[in-house]
Amino acid sequence: MALTADRFEQIKRFEKDLSQCMKCGFCTFWCPVYQEERIEASVARGKNMMIRGLLAGELDYTQEYADRLNKCTLCMTCTANCPAKANIPNVIVAARADAVKARGLNFPYNIVYRWLLPRRRLFGWVVRFASWFQGVFMPKTEGTIRHLSMFLSALGKGRNIPQIAPRFLRQMVPVVNVPPASVKTRMRVGYFSGCMTDFVLPHLGKHIIDFLTRNGVEVVVPREQGCCGAPVFLGAGDFEAGRKMADANVKAFEGLDYVISDCATCTSALKDYAKFLADTPQRKKAYEKFAKKVKDISEFLIDVLDLPASAYKPSAVAKGKKVSWHDPCHLSRHLGITSQPRQVIKSISGVEYVEMPNADRCCGMAGAFSMHYYDLSKEIGDKKAASIKSTGADIVVSSCPGCEIQLIDSLLRNKVPVKVMHIMELLE
Ligand code: SF4
Ligand code: SF4
Repeated sequence: MALTADRFEQIKRFEKDLSQCMKCGFCTFWCPVYQEERIEASVARGKNMMIRGLLAGELDYTQEYADRLNKCTLCMTCTANCPAKANIPNVIVAARADAVKARGLNFPYNIVYRWLLPRRRLFGWVVRFASWFQGVFMPKTEGTIRHLSMFLSALGKGRNIPQIAPRFLRQMVPVVNVPPASVKTRMRVGYFSGCMTDFVLPHLGKHIIDFLTRNGVEVVVPREQGCCGAPVFLGAGDFEAGRKMADANVKAFEGLDYVISDCATCTSALKDYAKFLADTPQRKKAYEKFAKKVKDISEFLIDVLDLPASAYKPSAVAKGKKVSWHDPCHLSRHLGITSQPRQVIKSISGVEYVEMPNADRCCGMAGAFSMHYYDLSKEIGDKKAASIKSTGADIVVSSCPGCEIQLIDSLLRNKVPVKVMHIMELLE
């Protein structure tokens, strides 16, 4: 299939993946969306055929086409189980980008993606306003989760979503965090605090910084860093706005040997700049260099820091508990990181590790996907809740704040009393 038209510029870059699909349908057995909907348009094969139809002039950039493209969690389960190893999620992201170029973005996404998310301080003010709104109007409940049944319905649709923190991470920690005087500094790293950690889970960011500094790592938290861009270029296909965010993040972490991230989606997005957003040789070089520095937190602990066993002491809440691990899609299938988080958990004294059946099955979050298709997202999440329940674990941990929100919501809805935490919260 020779693709020439400019309006298919991005799809053209992934022509090999597109043509690799041999229509065998193996992906139908694995795709979490297809498993719930049982319609061809949900699965990689159907989406691939639809994109081919677009290229052949049989389809156009309609709203229905956009909806079908969006109904995908980009979990990569299709690719992992595809006999031809066709990476259809690549083509889906590219097709989203061509659709945005052809049709533009609908309101309010054009404002949010192009004006709000690239401006971290402004975004922070808007989030702060939302937090005030939450505080005044929302019914109060115990713990860190509050049930928003009426308000923010467009965002939450009744889901259990976390409160916005009274203080953001950047207000809690300095730019440079040095090890205590008694500890020798081994290296200097940058900390990429995703939007969730910064605005919702700052205690997690502070905990990670404290752990790293105690173990001889100087941690720099550049104020110029912004959103990783995942919702913008991967989710919505807005490559133009994605490039601005990528350029800002690359610049923010210049001169640092590593960029540590506690969020699987952010880690994967930061590493994906070169694949999707490099439109010039200069950008390609800069993005590839940047990607090499980016490390998931457990990957960093195991592969780089190589701490002694004595460093893995349990936190008060983890002591003596049975713990299971949920593989975020962006960590397992996108980046191939599966052994390091398990190794971290198994290294913690006094913690019992229990493997979950289908630990790498998508939880159904996938950012905007779970907002647009919450009912579908819930059905996918229910399966994950059943897997967690079957382990008999006290705690389920992950390395993706987005997955954690989905797990909390799924477990609460299914009345499964298992605590959800970030893997780093297991450590003292
Ligand atoms: S994407 Fe892979 S598994 Fe699915 S139909 Fe095509 S070749 Fe088969
Ligand atoms: S990436 Fe996941 S949701 Fe999307 S088509 Fe593949 S298996 Fe289905």
